[in-house]
Amino acid sequence: MSQGNEKSRVAIVGAGPAGLTVAYLLTKQGYRVDVFEASDRLGGLSKTIELWGQKVDLGPHRFFTKDDRILKLWLEVVGEDYSMVKRLTRVYYAGKFFQYPLKPIETFTKLGFWDGSAAIFSYVKEKLIPTREDESFEKWVVRRFGKKLYQLFFKTYSEKLWGIPGTHLDKDFAAQRIKKLTFFEAVREGLREKKNNRHGTLIDEFAYPKEGTGMVYQRMGDFVNKNGGRIHLNARVISVNKTNTGEFLIGTNNGEAPNYKHLVSTMPLTQLILQLPDVPGEVLMAANELRFRNTILVYLLVDQREVFPDNWIYIHDPSLKVGRITNFSNWWSPEITRQSDKTILCMEYWANENEELWLNSDERLVALAKEEIAKTSLVKEAHISAGFVYRLPKCYPVYNIGYKIHLGSIISYLSKISGLIVIGRYGSFKYNNQDHSILMGILGAENIAGTGNHDLWKINTDYEVYQERGKNATVLYS
Ligand SMILES: Cc1cc2nc3c(=O)[nH]c(=O)nc-3n(C[C@H](O)[C@H](O)[C@H](O)COP(=O)(O)OP(=O)(O)OC[C@H]3O[C@@H](n4cnc5c(N)ncnc54)[C@H](O)[C@@H]3O)c2cc1C
Repeated sequence: MSQGNEKSRVAIVGAGPAGLTVAYLLTKQGYRVDVFEASDRLGGLSKTIELWGQKVDLGPHRFFTKDDRILKLWLEVVGEDYSMVKRLTRVYYAGKFFQYPLKPIETFTKLGFWDGSAAIFSYVKEKLIPTREDESFEKWVVRRFGKKLYQLFFKTYSEKLWGIPGTHLDKDFAAQRIKKLTFFEAVREGLREKKNNRHGTLIDEFAYPKEGTGMVYQRMGDFVNKNGGRIHLNARVISVNKTNTGEFLIGTNNGEAPNYKHLVSTMPLTQLILQLPDVPGEVLMAANELRFRNTILVYLLVDQREVFPDNWIYIHDPSLKVGRITNFSNWWSPEITRQSDKTILCMEYWANENEELWLNSDERLVALAKEEIAKTSLVKEAHISAGFVYRLPKCYPVYNIGYKIHLGSIISYLSKISGLIVIGRYGSFKYNNQDHSILMGILGAENIAGTGNHDLWKINTDYEVYQERGKNATVLYS
């Protein structure tokens, strides 16, 4: 291990949670790091932006971990500048709002006799004659919850989010995001909650930084800048080469940066493959098969302080394109809402690059969002005074059936490049939350410092180890 000298220079691509965690931890150990960030600010998808005199995240960002290593680092950075927030979320379906995670009794009452009975019947049928599982998300869910509940509460939302039918979506997504809870456990929890009047099971608590999610990463970046590291904003990495001496040569839109012993990449995995020299044809073809899904965030300014009580609402209703609505007035920190008497809502839409929705103008998207929120009866169009669109390209790695084969050949190629560390959400093609990206950063820094020898590709796939294990609740989407 050679710290603090030229040989241990580290280049990091991307100033999101993964890249900044590596930068922060290595700077603490005396390494000289250079972070190249394509955008003009820190935080990646977890940044916080200023809008209409308030602060908002890019959609709802709750921090949650049961892993001591992640929690320790998060608290080291955040200190006491956070609050604990009660999570209240509901599902909107067929003009009705259902508590989320689903409360069995309320769900069946609201579904009505026929749909409720069909849900029970198809659930019992799965216990007696289980559906034969294949690789698909659909079969995985049907096998555990029954066909009717799949159709009502899983199918539409997943298809909006991923843009492919549940039969084409890999069951990895379900295994990673649906907690293991049987239906009868859910009923028991629902009844117990009523009896004890507790909120613990159905409303999680989570930590939220006072100045917004981005505060964590801004602080990490400030530490790096103050302690010898350099963060280059507006520096998009466009090529990655190796010199004769085996060091990395990074090309950015601002010129070349030489002599890095280690390179940590959190840029989209498919982009990295295109930037490396002499990549074999089959690896290029594999990269060409991996797909990302984009998000469009439409923020609406509402001339009311109290709009609805939820932190966010999942929109399963198939008649609406919107997938989730976040209410930042219930986002728990006076520092971000600045005591405003107005509310900022965020409507989330998902689309591929060639889809009409993605190609729509901002004006058209704001008009769509206004029209759709009015249809839910949550807000009248007349109360909306402004709209703002923020686009997030490539933010969901799509787990379509077969993706693992393509990812596998990319992994085996990249693993042979010494000094290269590939982590992060689109960086390693994993459906990461912040905590997973932070963990990748912690373990990546250990690999560079020689204090660990981790297989970073295993993070976020071994869910017995890394999955959220919260209270008894079926949490499909965080
Ligand atoms: C709508 C939404 C809601 C979410 N909700 C939650 C939640 O509730 N809880 C939670 O924990 N997580 C949530 N997440 C996930 C969380 O935002 C991500 O897991 C996290 O930000 C990933 O960190 P990362 O560093 O891996 O990647 P990113 O945050 O994507 O950062 C990557 C960085 O790399 C930069 N970059 C890309 N290409 C280049 C290049 N060529 N050169 C230089 N820089 C480049 C990007 O500009 C970006 O800053 C949510 C995500 C979304 C989209």
